[in-house]
Amino acid sequence: MKIEESKVLFEESREYFPGGVNSPVRAFGSVGGVPVFVKRASGSHIYDEDGNEYIDYVNSWGPSILGHAYGPVVDAVREACLDGLSFGAPTRKELVLGTLIRECMPSMEMMRMVSSGTEAVMSAIRAARGYTGRDKIVKFIGCYHGHSDGLLVKAGSGALTESAPDSAGVPASYIEHTLLARYNDEDSVKKLFSEFPDEIGALVVEPVAANMGLVPPKPGFLEFLREITAKYGAVLIFDEVITGFRMGLGGAQGYYGVVPDMTALGKIAGGGMPMGVYGGKKEIMEVVSPLGKVYQAGTLSGNPIATAAGIATIKTLMEKPEIYPTLEEKAGKLVKALKETLPETWVNQAGSLFSVFFTKDQVVDYDTALASDTVKYGTYFHYLLEHGIYTAPSQFEILFLSAAHTDEDIEKTCGIIKAAAGIIS
Ligand code: PMP
Repeated sequence: MKIEESKVLFEESREYFPGGVNSPVRAFGSVGGVPVFVKRASGSHIYDEDGNEYIDYVNSWGPSILGHAYGPVVDAVREACLDGLSFGAPTRKELVLGTLIRECMPSMEMMRMVSSGTEAVMSAIRAARGYTGRDKIVKFIGCYHGHSDGLLVKAGSGALTESAPDSAGVPASYIEHTLLARYNDEDSVKKLFSEFPDEIGALVVEPVAANMGLVPPKPGFLEFLREITAKYGAVLIFDEVITGFRMGLGGAQGYYGVVPDMTALGKIAGGGMPMGVYGGKKEIMEVVSPLGKVYQAGTLSGNPIATAAGIATIKTLMEKPEIYPTLEEKAGKLVKALKETLPETWVNQAGSLFSVFFTKDQVVDYDTALASDTVKYGTYFHYLLEHGIYTAPSQFEILFLSAAHTDEDIEKTCGIIKAAAGIIS
């Protein structure tokens, strides 16, 4: 496969952007090699600068659930552009999108639009702290909630309450109120609440963890989080940046039937344009400015192009709810191929979300995810890439399907997975 253009562009980009990229995982750091420079995408396929074509399972990390350049979404964006790109004033489109979101996710009684998932979670936590008057928050080791300072806490072992920043440039004092618990481990959560019963303002969780590879919640885990946060008066925040509109119209909260106090959305909510949304109980959201004392603002928030893309995407999903069982079925076929053909692997699936770990032991949390052989993952990744299958260039990400993936795409991918088994020893 010729990758000369990508090579040249990568070399030049390294002069301008740290690591040659504008978001770290794009640099292929953990799998090695030259990142694919994408020229365009259509449906389930992406095309690179060298003219190579790939079936895309990265899907812009989730937003393109209808497939790339989906006609009605592109038309909505084009139309919106002609009316002006940004006004910094309220619009009808924000109201329409807000109405659709609340219809799908009734727990979002009141919401605020921002421009990224990072902002959505960061702002939800600020609102929860403002509402409760408590500083401490609980997050889970291995859950990613964007790159705001207080959430970049080392996902490592050690005493659960001993947090250390995950990134240089984050003062230790910024994360002194971030307490760490283990995903799927009720005792680790109980311990924190009994130690700090009146100090925890919020517990934030990915209802399906998708940033340590895919780790679904154990049966009863989300219900337990609902109960314990209610008992101690802490706000339960579901980070549904990935799961929102992907596990179903009602997100993971609809899928599992557990209702949080607040929710953060991103990705699909903006249909591929920069968008985040946070919201929840009206009495909590009423603390946000200008109604309340929690300040949060944004020049491009509720941007008319992003809202147009979000509206067109969500309307399509509402009109075609059969998309969800179909995605799940396609995921099932890929999962079956992975399970049947790759030796010594563990595959997790929730809805249409899934990922493969190169360990034969069950993966239920960060520590067990870390048991995966990342060198084997790299070999597997490159074999797929060379055969026209674009998946996550990191073990600790997941695969995303779109409505545009055809049976032929899935069949072809299953065949290549089977062939990959031969080269992974
Ligand atoms: N929360 C979750 C669960 C995510 O997966 C991500 C990013 N993948 C974020 C928050 C941050 O979103 P963004 O990259 O749009 O800032």
